Amino acid sequence: MWNCDWEYQHQDVLKNCYERKMAGRPYGKNDPVRKIICEGCGCVFYTRIWSKKYCYYKKCGNTGYKKQLIQRRLA
Ligand SMILES: [Zn+2]
Repeated sequence: MWNCDWEYQHQDVLKNCYERKMAGRPYGKNDPVRKIICEGCGCVFYTRIWSKKYCYYKKCGNTGYKKQLIQRRLA
């Protein structure tokens, strides 16, 4: 179960994995965990999803999406 909801609820776990990786002691051989800055709210977020841009898509991804919808309605 590796999805957005899980990651959002388990930032402490991912942060721990990231710190171990940085220290040269990763949990897995090729742990893809990385640190990103959310494009929505600018917070630090740890993730294993390669395409991830937001801390939580339902929270920050929708902000951009709603803006697009409003613009489309106005047009
Ligand atoms: Zn965010």
